[in-house]
Amino acid sequence: MGQRSLVPIERRCSGCALSKAWCICDQMPKVDHQLKIIWIYHPLELLKTTSSTVIARRCLNHVQLLQWEGRGDPIPKPNLDLSNAWVLMPEEGATPLEDEIEKFKNLQNQNHPTQNHPTQNLAPPVLIAIDATWRQARRMVKKIEWLQPLKKVILLQSNPNPNILRRQHLEEGMSTLDAVAIGLRLIGETQEAQTLLDARLFQMKHILKTRGIVIEQRVEQVQSSTRPWLISDEQDQQDQQDEQGDELK
Ligand SMILES: [Zn+2]
Repeated sequence: MGQRSLVPIERRCSGCALSKAWCICDQMPKVDHQLKIIWIYHPLELLKTTSSTVIARRCLNHVQLLQWEGRGDPIPKPNLDLSNAWVLMPEEGATPLEDEIEKFKNLQNQNHPTQNHPTQNLAPPVLIAIDATWRQARRMVKKIEWLQPLKKVILLQSNPNPNILRRQHLEEGMSTLDAVAIGLRLIGETQEAQTLLDARLFQMKHILKTRGIVIEQRVEQVQSSTRPWLISDEQDQQDQQDEQGDELK
């Protein structure tokens, strides 16, 4: 999820979606994580300057990026064992990722090889993230058949990065990238999680800078205000309209 940009597409970097003069591609770190990640994104996410997908594409080294096509077979099943896969999707019946990872770690410990019990192969954990608006994400998860039997998970932790770009993030939500970083941290890849969070924060600070805003001032404004001032709530309003339209259908 992210914010739409007004810069025409031909003047924007295809890597980071920012205007070419403000490209941050070379400043993005590589995150050398072990957790397998499947990242399903709506193509419109690539056009948003605050996109999580552009960072995921740039920074994550163990990721399968799959673009939603919408029609026919929207996304073929990746060639991966998904026995221990979790879909980040806050829907009814979703369980906390914290619990699922705990269960997985217990299984792993029980599975230590001994002379009498050689190790059984436990499928590696796979985290599946959906980057789209809520409305799109719900539809995507419903339509991708191979996601149906997989466990849907929510996060109990709050947003690790103060997302000052969008009101909904200030109040409750978090970006897809923040959620994946929490997943990395829960599985034990603390340093990798932090690098990813830092990359996200760098992206946000940079976007504010392109608009002539220094982040420290903004954080103060946000903290001292009961109704946080927004850079733009155009996207939020659009999302809300979409949500309402969706409910009516
Ligand atoms: Zn770039």
